[in-house]
Amino acid sequence: SESTAEKLVELAKRRGYFFPSAGAYGGVAGFYTFGPQGAALKQNVEDAWRERFAVREGHQEIDAPTVMPEPVFEASGHLDGFDDMLVECAECAESHRADHLIEDNTDIEEAESVPIEEVEDLIAEHDLVCPSCGAELAGEPVEDFNLMFGTNIGPGSSSPGYLRPETAQGIFVEFPLLSEYARNQLPFGVTQIGKAYRNEISPRKSVIRTREFTQAELELFVDPEGEGPDLSRVEDVEVRLYPIGEQEDEGGELIETTIGEAVDDGTLASPWIAYYLGVAQEWYERVGVDADRFRFRQHLAGERAHYASDCWDAEAELDGDWIELAGFAYRGDYDLSKHAEHSDEDFTVFQQYDEPVTVERATVDPDMSYLGPEFGGQAQDVADALADLAEADRSAFEDEEVSVRVDGEEVSVPVEKTNFSVDEVTESGEHVTPHVVEPSFGVDRLLYTVLDHAYAEDEVGGEERTYLALDAEVAPTTVGVFPLMDKEGLGERARDLAADLRAAGLSVNYDDSGAIGRRYRRQDEIGTPFCVTVDYETLEDGTVTVRERDSTEQLRVPVDDLDETLTALQDG
Ligand code: ATP
Repeated sequence: SESTAEKLVELAKRRGYFFPSAGAYGGVAGFYTFGPQGAALKQNVEDAWRERFAVREGHQEIDAPTVMPEPVFEASGHLDGFDDMLVECAECAESHRADHLIEDNTDIEEAESVPIEEVEDLIAEHDLVCPSCGAELAGEPVEDFNLMFGTNIGPGSSSPGYLRPETAQGIFVEFPLLSEYARNQLPFGVTQIGKAYRNEISPRKSVIRTREFTQAELELFVDPEGEGPDLSRVEDVEVRLYPIGEQEDEGGELIETTIGEAVDDGTLASPWIAYYLGVAQEWYERVGVDADRFRFRQHLAGERAHYASDCWDAEAELDGDWIELAGFAYRGDYDLSKHAEHSDEDFTVFQQYDEPVTVERATVDPDMSYLGPEFGGQAQDVADALADLAEADRSAFEDEEVSVRVDGEEVSVPVEKTNFSVDEVTESGEHVTPHVVEPSFGVDRLLYTVLDHAYAEDEVGGEERTYLALDAEVAPTTVGVFPLMDKEGLGERARDLAADLRAAGLSVNYDDSGAIGRRYRRQDEIGTPFCVTVDYETLEDGTVTVRERDSTEQLRVPVDDLDETLTALQDG
C-alpha cells in the first residue's frame, strides 16, 4: 500500500499545495512551486512565526538581499567550509551524499562529522552500492563539495557573489547599524524570513530537502555576562528531550519533562536555549505539529559547529524518520568576531558602567625619530606591536630591552625609547562583543510536517474520505461557500455571502460545481475548516448550514451571525 508520503505528495500536487517546478521542461531536482493553497499556507505559517518570534518578543525584522559579495562568505567561513561529502558513482555518474549513504545503510547515526578518509573506509567496509544503479562504490574517492551557488556581480568575473546559504549573514553583516537602531542595548533580536539556496548534492523527500527554500531566523544578541531570559514564561511548557547522554546509551530514551525541570536538573544548560525551546514547542503545536511526533534532540559534540557551545534541533517524525525542522544554537561571539576581523567596522557594543571606574592603563609613546631610522618601513608595525604588548603584558617592559615579533622576526627596542608609562584613567564603560543565540527555522519542512501530521482518512456515510485536519489559524482557506444549486437566486445569494465574508477578512472559496458531497470532499482535502451552504431555507429565513470539517457535524446559523460564529469556531 502507499505510504503517507506518496499519498501526500499526490494530494499536494492535485490540490495546489506544492509540485516540482518547470515540469513543462522536464523539471529540475530540488525546486518546488507552492500552488495557491501552499502559498497561502506558507504565508499563514510565516505570519504566525513573525507574530511569535518578532512582534511578541519585541524583535525587529529586516529584509536583506539574497545575493551577497564574496568577502561576506570568506568572513563567515562558508567559502572554505560549507561542504558536504560527495561520492560519484563510476558506473552511472550519479552523485550521492556519502554521509547519507552511510546513515541509510549502517547503524551509524550521524556520519556528517566522520573524517572524509574514514568515510571512504566505511563505504568499503559495508560494501555500499550506488542507490541509482547498484554498482559498488568501494574505491571511489569522497570529495568535499561546496554547497553555495556562485554568480558574478555585474559584467565580467572580478566581483564574485553567492546566493546566501542562510539568511543569518544578512543580519550579522549589518550588525553595526542594527545595533545603533537598538540603541546599543543588549539583548536585542533581529529576525528575517526569506529564501536561502544550497546546491544540495541529492535533493530528496520533496520539499524536505530542496535547493531553494525559506528560512525564518532570529539572531539574538546578548551580553555574555548580562541577565538571562525570563524563564518563568516557559517553565511549565512540556517538552520531549533527547539529550546526548540518552543518545549514547544503548536504548536511550526520550525524556518527558518541562522546561523548568530540564533547566533545574542541568539537561538544558543554556537559559537562552531553554527559553526558545519552550517558545518553539508552544508555537509548533499552535501551527499544527503533533506533539507526540515531535522532540528536541541535542547535537553530539562532533556534530556541532566548533564555535557552538550548545545546540539542539527540533525534530518531527515523518513516516518513521526524524527530520530536522529547526536548529537552536548558542554561537558565542564567533559571527561578530569574524566580521570584525575581516572588515574595518566595529562589531562591538559600548556598555556603560553604572559608575565610572578608575583603572591603570599601560601605554607606549614610541620615539619615532629612533624607530624610523632603525626599522625603516617596519617602524609603524613595531610601534603597533609595542602598544599591543604594553596592554597585554606590562612585565615585558621591566628590563632594559623589550622584544616584539614583526613579520615573523623578533626585534628588540630599548625600553626608554618606547616611553612606556602606567597611568590611572577613568573609564565610563567597555566595548563588548555580543554573543549570538540563534533559533533557525526551516519553513518548507515545517509546511510538509503540518500537512503530514494533519493528514487523515476516515469513512463518512459509507464512503472513504481524506481530509487535512489543519488548524484554522493556518488553513489556507477558512470557509467554503456553496449554493445548493446555482439556480433560483441561490447562486447570487451565495456569491453575495462570499463577498461579505471576504470583506470581513476571511479566506473564502466559492464553489457551485458538482454535487454538494463532492464539493465537501474537495474542501476536506484542502483542509478547509468550515463549509457554508446556501439553500431554499436561506431565502425564507436567512439561515445557512455550517458544516465542520473533522466531525462533519452541521448546524443551522443565521447569516447575520455567520462571521461571528466562524470566528468563534476558528478560535476553538
Ligand atoms: P541538514 O542537516 O538537514 O542538511 P542543516 O543542519 O544543514 O540541515 P541548518 O543549516 O541548521 O540545516 O538550517 C536551518 C534549517 O533550514 C533546517 O533546520 C531546515 O529546516 C532548513 N533547511 C536546511 N537545508 C534545507 C534544504 N536543503 N531544504 C529545505 N530546508 C532546509
